[in-house]
Amino acid sequence: MSITDNVDTFVDSNDNYIGGEWVPSEGSARITITSPSTEEAIGSVVDGTEGDMDRAVAAARAAFDDPTGWSTWAPGQRAEVLERFAVALEARGAETASAVSRQNGMPLSVSSSVESAFPGLLLRYYSGLVAEPGFLESTRPAMFGGLTTVRREALGVVAAIIPWNFPQALAFTKLAPALAMGNTVVMKPSPETVLDSLIVGAAAIEAGLPAGVLNIVPAGREVGAYLVSHPGVDKVAFTGSSAAGRQIAAVCGGLLRPVTLELGGKSAALVLEDADLVGNAAQFLNATMPNNGQTCNASTRILVPHSKYAAFVDDITDMVKAMKVGDALDPETQVGPMVSARQRDRVMSYVDRGRADGARVTTGGGRPDGVGYFVQPTVFADVTNDQVIAQEEIFGPVLTVIGYSDEAEGIRLANDSEFGLGGSVWSQDTARAIDVARHVKTGSIGINSYVNDPASPFGGVKSSGMGREQGPEALSSYFTYKSIYNV
Ligand code: NAD
Repeated sequence: MSITDNVDTFVDSNDNYIGGEWVPSEGSARITITSPSTEEAIGSVVDGTEGDMDRAVAAARAAFDDPTGWSTWAPGQRAEVLERFAVALEARGAETASAVSRQNGMPLSVSSSVESAFPGLLLRYYSGLVAEPGFLESTRPAMFGGLTTVRREALGVVAAIIPWNFPQALAFTKLAPALAMGNTVVMKPSPETVLDSLIVGAAAIEAGLPAGVLNIVPAGREVGAYLVSHPGVDKVAFTGSSAAGRQIAAVCGGLLRPVTLELGGKSAALVLEDADLVGNAAQFLNATMPNNGQTCNASTRILVPHSKYAAFVDDITDMVKAMKVGDALDPETQVGPMVSARQRDRVMSYVDRGRADGARVTTGGGRPDGVGYFVQPTVFADVTNDQVIAQEEIFGPVLTVIGYSDEAEGIRLANDSEFGLGGSVWSQDTARAIDVARHVKTGSIGINSYVNDPASPFGGVKSSGMGREQGPEALSSYFTYKSIYNV
């Protein structure tokens, strides 16, 4: 199966990837995938059923429980297969970038650098960590004499539930540590972004991943919820909205099932008096409006000192006004469309709410003419931190600029949020900026930029989630400890 990067090709697939091969769905329901840039249907794929999920979990269970299978292999043996998987994915990198941009509106410049690169990078990174001497098993002197052997053992079958905004990067932040550690996986892509998951299945077949080690069933929320509570699942890894995360946490709590949750955000860009925003324009836009604003860690709540409020609002307005809006597949595009008409309407309802609450639009605030689910990149000034547009996650190209009197108030406002996921501090004095960053309650924060580091832990506090992905720390979500006492 290949889905080609020809934008005129319509993908028609009735298959799930289960047990190492393409298996037709037992149901007849379909998901129609629409290009948000052109509003044309670009694919029709299976809408997985509970029965499909049963088969996928059974395949993953059998692969994990096989007494000579994947989970029992030496890390180096798994690493060889995962290296082939990385190579097969990288060979399809352009196809993946195109598929992602065609489905969710991500500018091709972003999908080409992030979505096609992260899978291979993460597979190699985690394969290397698990293969380090002493990682899986070590001994220590026991307190009452003798030696204790401490083992890290894979958990079993992992349910990986993926959102549409960075479907490849967020899939492989789960798949790579899970598989390297010896777990098996059932992945449920979001209905908006299934085409790129078909590429993952094709790469897995080419790489010779053993049957059942990875299984992919596209489906909606109900079948996702069915997977979360499935008796054959040992661990859930979820990225998505805080609302869905709460439901999943409640189910996993009842089952005492380990779960990691990467959820929503409303992060602050804390701009200090001496910041040079214009000199850092590209970094500032990348931190505040990445991927059309459809990014969980975006610094959309911009806090600027009253003393320089007007000047900073002018700078931000000029930067945002200059952004090129267009078809996601145009390499020049900086802001593509929203993923769906529903998401566009949701973003526009926040724009209306901002106006109604008395905030002032300095650029944007509407929808461009023509086809596509576009929203004009928008800046709101005269916002107070208690307004809805300052507190709720909009998930679109909408920035809110809020004034503060002194550094202490800036930090207080940064922390006055239900969320705590990303953020940024802007100052020409790096040491001072790092000190301010220490006081922000969040999972990650950038200095004069926000560049996600796959080798460091990423995740949220408060309503932004539980647990960490990325970095060596992520592995701890995919193993359990066993102590063998030998006195
Ligand atoms: P969503 O919660 O609607 O859906 C995410 C995925 O979960 C989809 O595959 C969906 O089908 C599935 N799902 C939804 N409800 C479920 C349930 N009860 N049980 C099982 N599966 C369920 O989110 P979305 O609209 O696809 O993604 C946008 C959200 O994701 C935003 O809130 C964003 O901030 C968040 N996000 C967080 C991170 C992070 O790392 N913290 C990264 C990207 C996106």
